[in-house]
Amino acid sequence: MAYRVLLAQFMHETNTFSKLPTTLDDYRRRFLVEGEAIIPKFKGTKNEMGGYIDSAATYGWEPVYAVAANATPSGTLTKATWETIRDIILDTAKKAGKLDGICLSLHGAMVTETEDDAEGALLEALRTIVGPDVPIAATLDLHANATVRMAANANALVSYRTYPHIDGYERSVQAAALVQEAMAGRKKPRCLLLQPAMLEGADHGRTTQPGLMRELLAKADGYEKEEGINVVSIQVGFTWSDIPYTGPSVAVSHEPGKEARAKAIAQAMIDEIWKRRDESSSDYRPIADGIAAARAGAGKKGPLVIADGTDNPGGGGYNDTTPVLQALLDAGIENVAFGTIFDPKTVQQAMKAGVGAEIDVELGGLTDESMGRPVKAKAVVKMLSDGTFRNDGPMNAGVETQMGPTAVLRIGGIDVVTISSRVQTIDLQVFLSQGIDPTTKSVLVVKSVQHFRAAYGPIAREIVLVDSGGICSPDISRLKFKKLRRPIWPLDGVNDPYAGGQRA
Ligand SMILES: [Zn+2]
Repeated sequence: MAYRVLLAQFMHETNTFSKLPTTLDDYRRRFLVEGEAIIPKFKGTKNEMGGYIDSAATYGWEPVYAVAANATPSGTLTKATWETIRDIILDTAKKAGKLDGICLSLHGAMVTETEDDAEGALLEALRTIVGPDVPIAATLDLHANATVRMAANANALVSYRTYPHIDGYERSVQAAALVQEAMAGRKKPRCLLLQPAMLEGADHGRTTQPGLMRELLAKADGYEKEEGINVVSIQVGFTWSDIPYTGPSVAVSHEPGKEARAKAIAQAMIDEIWKRRDESSSDYRPIADGIAAARAGAGKKGPLVIADGTDNPGGGGYNDTTPVLQALLDAGIENVAFGTIFDPKTVQQAMKAGVGAEIDVELGGLTDESMGRPVKAKAVVKMLSDGTFRNDGPMNAGVETQMGPTAVLRIGGIDVVTISSRVQTIDLQVFLSQGIDPTTKSVLVVKSVQHFRAAYGPIAREIVLVDSGGICSPDISRLKFKKLRRPIWPLDGVNDPYAGGQRA
């Protein structure tokens, strides 16, 4: 008889320092799909749900679809948002009758008004419903703030091994394969987790160049070849979250009798992360360096990409800060495409005026003027659209993205893609869908810190990552932590990395 497997996705990377609560509307704007409607939405995509749909077919499962929900990173989830989506999953599990397994796609850094460890709470609730013997595997983002509670209630935590994250599909296929083995009685996985007294580590997980994270992942690959070791996952943590569990961790899924070895592996990985805690490939520069690079590159082939990393909506940035735009205008830089500024009111103004009209705008700077005031300028409306496109780059390939009602505004020599729903600039379609060929521009501005590299790296002449003073600043002294476990490196003097962390 076919195995009955519950499939669900519930993701959010919560920046608790954001002023903007995350609501059900935020989920609806990205996606909130229930039941069998998940199949047409994700079949054939490289999203984790695409991997689970294919795995269900491969193994002949009888899948039970609960929900697929994700919202652009922002502030703490409201209680109602969390409970509504959580309860879709829990109610589906309760009503499903006998379940043989559960495959989840989670983030691991979701914080709600009532839960600092939302994924831990969800896994615990599911475990209570299905009992100790039904295998539960969850994929996580590489930037999960993973917890002992998550590990204790799952049989495996399978985290991305790429940043930019281009392996969601492969990780869900890996998780599904382990659940299949467990349901067939060939494996009995258990999961443990070790977290040191570190707020940051492992170079934030960057895998675009040789170095620490790639070496850690190569070690993890090696450990996974050992008999009785199923999965070795490194979560590097998501810094902008004021909860006790923020920071790197290692999760190991193992067979019975291999617990001591699994602990030793986790310890060895953490020891390496601790030893190499000062290694960082991040290179934030002042905006002026981006302007200088734009001037120096005038007339050269291929675009300079200026990454406005501290206003990255993929990390909870407001997507509306203006210092980079203002600096480009002040410097008179031309042939620029700017992707994107979130400003629904200006989009509406442009829609009323129509294509070709010239309008006076006060663009951006909506959420926090201390991060840049609105840009006052004359703008020509170049194009209007519903802002919907399908990703065709390496990240989330095939998944539909909605920028909401969108206007391309020409201000000076800059085409500004002005949007109504926050979206990280990870795909070339942010520009292409708006009639802009990014390869013909001298300068592209992207609101992204690292993910843009998957699609924009290959077309970029040069990349400059700038700190424009946004909420995702790398300067952690600007973050006022209240709930974080202490002492913790690098905020406190820490000699023993296990002093304040969560032990397995
Ligand atoms: Zn991530």
